[in-house]
Amino acid sequence: MQIIKTNNDIYYFKDDFIEFYFTTKKYKIIKNSENYIPVIKSLIPDYKHIIITKQIHSSITNRIKGQGFYIGDAIFTSEKGIIPVIFTADCFPVFLYSKNVPFIVLLHAGWRGILKNILPIAIKSIKNNYNDINEINAVIGPGICKDCYQVGIEMLNKFNNKYLNMSNDKLYLDLKSVLIHQMEDNSISKITDSGFCTVHNNESFFSYRKENRTANRILSFGIIH
Ligand SMILES: [Zn+2]
Repeated sequence: MQIIKTNNDIYYFKDDFIEFYFTTKKYKIIKNSENYIPVIKSLIPDYKHIIITKQIHSSITNRIKGQGFYIGDAIFTSEKGIIPVIFTADCFPVFLYSKNVPFIVLLHAGWRGILKNILPIAIKSIKNNYNDINEINAVIGPGICKDCYQVGIEMLNKFNNKYLNMSNDKLYLDLKSVLIHQMEDNSISKITDSGFCTVHNNESFFSYRKENRTANRILSFGIIH
């Protein structure tokens, strides 16, 4: 399984009946507008509902139950045709899924959520909701890399030093490594990393930091067919 770029400049990952997508700069997706709906419709005309969540840099994980309003940073479903959506620009969009007990999770992982253990908490919540899961797979979308994510010294008190690197008197944080280690600690079977950095690959992806707090976002979403 690999991540493929479509003719529409949207990246696409497929594992049998499970799909995950993330958009490029061709699509100026604005959070809290509805301009993401036509993008999804053009790719998946027969979906049932799109589910968004008010992202608050938390570890709150929601199981989708109907077309409600959700607050939190991870949403999951086992229902076919439901599309959970996450918006990012520098934070990592993370997609988790299983095929044997079908479910998908869309997760928004920035430093605050990662520090609050959103990923392990989401995995625990999935295991509590679904019995007999024998594999969980992960896909990591575009986010800011360890060479681009300069942070303040207050991070020294927050993250293990192995995730921090000092270079030319500047401190850098490696968020992706935290996520990967948390995935390994939680027996994630397979990790597919897009390898994209929102700053290094800024021609393709929006970066909140590189682009002066842009309101544009990368749209990430998944579906079970
Ligand atoms: Zn980078």
